[in-house]
Order: sequence, then C-alpha cells, then structure tokens
Amino acid sequence: MSEALANLLNETRQFPPPAELAADANVTAEAYAEAEADRLAFWERQAGRLAWARQWDQVLDWSNPPFAKWFVGGQLNVAYNCLDRHVEAGRGDKVAIHWEGEPGDTRTITYADLHRMTCQAANALTDLGVVAGDRVAIYMPMVPEAAVAMLACARIGATHSVVFGGFSAESLTNRIQDASAKVVITADGGYRRGKPSALKPTVDEAVANCPSVEHVLVVRRTGESVDWSQRDHWWHETVEQASTEHTAEAFDAEHPLFILYTSGTTARPKGILHTTGGYLTQTSYTSHAVFDLKPETDVYWCTADIGWVTGHSYIVYGPLSNGATQVMYEGTPDTPHKGRFWEIVDRYGVTILYTAPTLIRTMMKWGDDIPAEYSLSTLRLLGSVGEPINPEAWMWYRQHVGRGELPIVDTWWQTETGSIMISPLPGVTAAKPGSAMTPLPGISADVVDDQGQSVPNGGGGYLVLREPWPSMLRTIWGDDNRFIETYWSRFGAGASGTGGDEWIYFAGDGAKKDDDGHVWLLGRVDDVMLVSGHNISTTEVESALVSHPSVAEAAVVGATDPTAGQAIVAFAIPRGSTDISGEAGEQLIADLRNHVAKTLGPIAKPRQIMLVPELPKTRSGKIMRRLLRDVAENRSLGDVTTLQDSSVMELIASGMGGGK
Ligand code: ATP
Ligand code: MG
Repeated sequence: MSEALANLLNETRQFPPPAELAADANVTAEAYAEAEADRLAFWERQAGRLAWARQWDQVLDWSNPPFAKWFVGGQLNVAYNCLDRHVEAGRGDKVAIHWEGEPGDTRTITYADLHRMTCQAANALTDLGVVAGDRVAIYMPMVPEAAVAMLACARIGATHSVVFGGFSAESLTNRIQDASAKVVITADGGYRRGKPSALKPTVDEAVANCPSVEHVLVVRRTGESVDWSQRDHWWHETVEQASTEHTAEAFDAEHPLFILYTSGTTARPKGILHTTGGYLTQTSYTSHAVFDLKPETDVYWCTADIGWVTGHSYIVYGPLSNGATQVMYEGTPDTPHKGRFWEIVDRYGVTILYTAPTLIRTMMKWGDDIPAEYSLSTLRLLGSVGEPINPEAWMWYRQHVGRGELPIVDTWWQTETGSIMISPLPGVTAAKPGSAMTPLPGISADVVDDQGQSVPNGGGGYLVLREPWPSMLRTIWGDDNRFIETYWSRFGAGASGTGGDEWIYFAGDGAKKDDDGHVWLLGRVDDVMLVSGHNISTTEVESALVSHPSVAEAAVVGATDPTAGQAIVAFAIPRGSTDISGEAGEQLIADLRNHVAKTLGPIAKPRQIMLVPELPKTRSGKIMRRLLRDVAENRSLGDVTTLQDSSVMELIASGMGGGK
C-alpha cells in the first residue's frame, strides 16, 4: 500500500444500548478508565476471576519481545476452572450443554456430567500413555465428546490440536505431522446435511503417514461400520469404563494449552500456539464483558465449529469458565429446513446468539419470511465474528433476528489473538452498523500508515496492536522465525530500519478510524485494491453492493487492468426472488455498477460484475478472494485445499467465459 486507504463509506446510523441492559450490565464504562489507569493491574484483576493453585509473581514478562510471558510463576488447571470449581460450589446440577444432533436427537449435560466425562477421558488418555506436554489431535464432529476431549487434554497438560472435521486426509496428515501428535481422538462420523458423514476413514488414511500416532480413540456417533486396527480404541470401551475420579494437577501459566491452525484464507495455515493462564484469563473476561454473560439466567449459543478458534474460546473455554449454560448443535443450518437455527433458539430459550456474517448473509438470501415464522423473543444480545459485517447485513440481523431492538456486538479478533480484541460493550457502546467500534479495556489497538504512524480520525491504514495482551499467541509452533516475520517485522522494533523500540503486532487487516475514532475493519491488507492510484478496500465495495436490495452477498477483487492499474471485479449473489435471467440480469448489473458509483464515488465503480449462485469460502465460511482474483485475471487456481466446496470455483470460472 503506497498510501492510506481511501475512506469512502459514510455510515451514520448509531444505536445506543437498551436501557435495561445498560442498567444491569456486567461491565460498565468504568472498565475503560480502570484499564487506562493501570493496564497490568486491570489484567491482574481479571486473572483473579479464575482459581489459581499458585499466585503469579509477575503479571507480564516482556523482557524478550515478541515472546511474552503472562502471570509468571502462577499455576492453574484449565479444566478445574471450567468444571470442578462450579461443581464444588454446588452448581453441579446446572446444565452446561443442551446438545442437539442434526437428526434431532438431544442430550442434556450438567456440569457434574461434564466433569465426570472429562475425568474419565483424562484417566483413559493417561492409560494410553499420554503425559503433560504430549500433543493430541482432535478430529471430531460437533458432539459433546469433542469438548470433553479438549478439556481432558487440558486437565492432564496435554496440548490439543483440533482439526476441523471437514478437512481432507492430507490436511489432517500435515497438521498431525507438524505437531507430532501421539494420539488422535475422532468419531466414526457425524451428521451433515441429513446424512452420516464419515470421519474414521479419513483418520485411517492420514494416520498411515503419521508414525508419531500410537493410538486412535473413536467415539461412536453414527454407528456406521469402520475399519479397525490394533491402535484403535472405542471411546465407550475405554473412556466410559474408566474411573470417574481424577485430581487435576496445576500447570504453569505458560504451559502450552493448544495449537490451532489458522483458517488459511490468505496463506498456508500457521500453527498458532496458545498457553494457559493468560489465554483463560482473557477468554473468560471477554465472555463476561462482551456477551454480558449471566450464568444464572442466560442460555448462550455460539454457532461456530469447535475446529475454529471461535469454538475453542467461545464454546469451550470462555463460557465454561464462567459456568454458563449453552446450546451446542451438530449440523447445518438448513437441515431439514431453513428455519432450523430459529427453531433451536425458541426450543432452548437462547438469550445470546453469536454467529458469523456469512450465515447472516445466507439467511438474508433465504428471505425475511423464515425468521418471521419464529418467536425469537428470548434473545437479548446478538454477536458477529469472522469477517467484516456489512452495514446492511448488520441491519438485517438487528431487524429480523433482533426484533429491531437488540444490541449487536461485532467482535474483531483472530486465531492469533485468542480472544476478542475490538468490540462494542453491549451495555456501554452506541454501536454503528459495520463497525467493531472500540478496543476492549486493556487492549491497545491502533490504525497506522505505511510508516507505522498512528493515523488521525478519518484516516485509514493498517490495524496494529501496540501492547502485549494476555491471550496473545506465543509463537507459531516450531517456527519462531515465521512468528517474528509474519507479525512483528512490518512496524516497530522488529522492522528493519528505524522502527523505534516499541514492538508492534501487525494483524494483516486494513482498517480506518472514523471521525469519532471508531474502528472499521476493511478486509485483508493482501486484498486491498489499487485503482488509479487510490487504495480501495474490498469490504467497502462489497458493503455498497450488499446495500442494494437485490444483493445478498458480494465479493470484490482487484484485477490487473491496462489503464487503471487494477480494476474492480465484483461477484454478487442475488437475493432470494430476484430475476436475473437474460435482460433482467443485464439491467441488474448496470444498476449495481451505478449504485456503487453513487454510494462510494465513480472511482469505486466495478469494471465488471458477475451474478453468481455461490462464492468460494474457506471451511470457516470466509470468502477466499485470492481465488476470485485468479479467475478475474484468468490464471489457474491457487491452493484450494481449505475451500469448502471446490465445485463452486468451476461454476464461477465457467460463468466468466468470454467476459474479458
Ligand atoms: P489465515 O491467517 O490463514 O489467512 P484467517 O485469517 O482467515 O486465516 P482466522 O484467524 O480464523 O484465520 O481469522 C481472523 C481474521 O478474520 C481476521 O484477521 C480478520 O481478517 C477476520 N475477522 C474476524 N472477525 C472480524 C470482524 N469482526 N470484522 C472484520 N474482520 C474480522
Ligand atoms: Mg489470519
């Protein structure tokens, strides 16, 4: 980027918190002042929300940047914090998980149940020879045993590496090998789109190339037949027969808790390493602060998969460390019908819903009448994560899911940050649709220009983090150099030349500060388009397209252009009933080009717009623009292994035909 991002979008709507929520919020505006006055004392207080076996000697050791140590000398057990302490406090009968399988089977699991299951799994893993420091790969459907497996690893100090259950044998092999996992925990399969989807054959294929793996532990979920070898053990024959007694040992605050690979939207996935004390402190605090989570009364539901960081931090560790009741759902949102999510919200009385823009835009595409068939009256707070949420998608979410009155927290964070970093506080912030608003208390995020200088309000550039935070990644597993290179070498002390002595974390995302200093995420820096000398963000053009009543979802890329350097090429999915045949389609494309020019200015007018049925997405639901760029520039496709559905690309590429 040769200049700061052009600041185009002008969104002025703003929604203050409901008075009732504000009056009873877990966290008030004071938190910002407290953290501002003494950041480390603030985080020390949040660490105090957990149960420690040994108090720390030092809050932060930043003497060897960028390698941080938080709560140095402290010891705790993560599973004890998520389970035992709630049971010991007499809350064992409280529901931890209302689980629903895709076929409609249900399980109600209390904290006492979850504790018992975790103790058994800890004993079984120990019997298989797993000791503290060993790595365990988890390749599971969304069943309660997936959470149990993670908690059991945490309980015995084994480092888990969860691999999303949709990944291929090759992706699984790479991840198992990278971490040298000793045990793999899996299932025969899970239910997806109305039928069993096998997992065990993929594990068999992967493990054949992984000499580090000594045992495979298999949960029976679908009952389909599976091949069996000597290293395989059924969960119900081992874990469920094991003793329910297990005493959790405390581990060092910096003991490795898990490795998780990023979703691979921009590059080869990185094995992000998270540790124990700081990670749990911040996931626990942010669950309490951002979701205003009230363990006594709320029913919380995060729709992410456990294979993504959102599932780690906001299904397992954040909610459980707070003693919350939550919903866990195995399947897809349109099985057996497109109202499945709303049916689940009504059935369990969900009060807090945390989902992704990709799902919200899909729901928009399906039509307003679907959520309208449900009550949704128990909801009191909505959240979004994973991509920038377009203002119109935000408004749709508020209008059609939030009864036109619920607060929405748009939460910016990454696998690397471990926890939410930038977000409204629901009882404090008057949120703007499409803005993540303000860094949380204790977090110092900023937007800087090419030189690493903070941009003034109204300016755009790169999102950075200026101070270490408790749940920050500690390194890339086995690759300290890539860790430094990727995140710490762009600006500040790690940059070559005159970066100063401050270590600055480069997030890889473009952002702007509006006139009030609120933060707007503008998409990946790698995706920014340079059109006739102006840097234009993909997010802003996409949001302009989505603000047209006929568009549900859009992806925009910059393609090489002889006159403008780069020209904007857009791919748009029409809303439910839109007619796009023949001339109507041509007319819509012309309208959309003009609509963007009118909304953002002529510079942002797309050279070309394709109406498409679907967009290429990673398995975590993020749009993969680099593949669209390949199409727009007529190149063969790059790495598609993290793509959700590779046939989408063939559809799009064939539609491009003689377009250029
Ligand atoms: P890779 O790093 O391998 O390309 P990835 O960045 O997609 O994969 P994640 O860690 O799952 O992997 O995603 C984090 C990214 O998601 C952020 O850097 C940002 O680009 C995007 N993101 C997440 N939440 C938001 C949000 N609320 N607003 C805007 N962007 C978001
Ligand atoms: Mg990333």
